[in-house]
Amino acid sequence: MPFQPVTAIPYGRQRITEEDIEAVAATLRSDFLTQGPKVAEFEEKFAAYIGAKYAVAVSNGTAALHLCALALNVQPGQRVITTPITFAASANCVRYCGGEVHFADIDPTTALIDLRLVRKLLESHPKGYFHGLIPVDFAGLPVNLEEARQLADEFGLWIIEDACHAPGGFFRDSTGREQRCGNGQLADLAIFSFHPVKHIATGEGGMITTNRADLYEQLLVLRTHGITKDPAKMHRHDGGWYMEMQTLGYNYRISDILTALGISQLARADAGLTRRRQLAARYDATFASVPAVRPLAAAPGHAYHLYVIQVADRKGLYDFLRTRQIFAQVHYIPVHTMPYYQELGWQLGDFPQAEAYYDHCLSIPLFPALTDEEQQYVIDCIVEFVGA
Ligand SMILES: *Cc1c(COP(=O)(O)O)cnc(C)c1O
Repeated sequence: MPFQPVTAIPYGRQRITEEDIEAVAATLRSDFLTQGPKVAEFEEKFAAYIGAKYAVAVSNGTAALHLCALALNVQPGQRVITTPITFAASANCVRYCGGEVHFADIDPTTALIDLRLVRKLLESHPKGYFHGLIPVDFAGLPVNLEEARQLADEFGLWIIEDACHAPGGFFRDSTGREQRCGNGQLADLAIFSFHPVKHIATGEGGMITTNRADLYEQLLVLRTHGITKDPAKMHRHDGGWYMEMQTLGYNYRISDILTALGISQLARADAGLTRRRQLAARYDATFASVPAVRPLAAAPGHAYHLYVIQVADRKGLYDFLRTRQIFAQVHYIPVHTMPYYQELGWQLGDFPQAEAYYDHCLSIPLFPALTDEEQQYVIDCIVEFVGA
C-alpha cells in the first residue's frame, strides 16, 4: 500500500511542543501578560543568536518594517529600492511614510535582487536621488550585504535587511568571515517575523536587530506611542507618574505570552535549521536527475524558509498536487504587478526576470516536522506529474 498522508501537507507549518505550551502557561500564571520580563529575555536571546548588539521585539514583521522606516526618517517623496520578489510588506513600509518604492529586477538563478541592476539604477540618477535599499534574503538565501554595503556607502543609502526568511542564515564575506543575517555588521537595520510559517513562531510577532545605538533608542520610543519614561530625556519632570510623548509613535508591542513562546522556540532554532537544510539537500539531490524540475541555487548558509522549484506547467503541478493533498504555494506574485503598485505607475513588463520567475515558481513542502516518508511522497507526486 503506497504512502497516503493523513492530513494535507502544507508548504510550511509551525511546530509546537509540550515545552512551548508549558512556557506559555507559566507566563499566563505569572504577574505579567505584557511588557514583563519575557520580552526583554527574548530580545537578549535573539540578539545573541543572531550576533547583533540590539534587538527590539514588536507585534509583527510588518510593524518592524514600519518602525525601521520611521527610525530612518523616510520622508514623503524619498525613493527606496527593493525587490519585486518579496512579500508586499517589504515595499509597503516605504509607502506608510509617503516614500516612493522603486524596484531592481532579480537574478534568475537565486531570485534575489540583482545588485548589478541596483548599481545601474543608482548610476543612472544623480547622487542623492535614492535614499535607501531594502534587500530581502528571499527563501532564506542571504543577500551579499558586503556588496550591498559598498553600493550604499558609495551612493549614500541606508539598508534595511528583510531577513524574515533567514534567521540563522549566513554568507561568507570577502575575508572569509561568516556574516549572519541580521548581525548588524553591514545593514543599518534588519527585521524578522514570527508568523507561524517562519522559522520561529509566536503566532504574530517580529523583531528588529541593529548595532546602531541611535536607531535602537528611537525604535524603543516609536514602539510604544513615542513615549519616554527616562527622566534624563525629558523636558520637565512633574513627579513619579510623569512621562512624555515626544514623537508620534505606535503601539507595536509584543506580549509576554507570545515572547514566552518565542524563547521556547528559539531554543530549537538550530535543530530546525539543520532539519530544513537536510530536507533541502535531499530535494536537491533528487531533482538533480529530474531535468523538468529546476530548483533555485543552493548555498551553505541558506536558511531554507522555502524550497522553490521552477517547472514548465506550474499551474498544472499546483492543481495536481492539491488533488494529492499537497498544498504547495507561490512566492511571490511580483509586488510591482499588484493593482496598488500598478496604480502608482508600475507596469507588467517592467521587471521581466521577476515576471518570468513568477510564471514558473512553486514552493513545495519544507518544514522541520516534515517526515522523510512525507518528503518522499511529495517527490513521487512531483515526478509523477512532470515525468522523470
Ligand atoms: C512574513 C514576511 C514579512 C511580514 O511579516 P509579518 O509578521 O507577517 O507582518 C515581511 N517580509 C517578508 C519577506 C516576509 O516573509
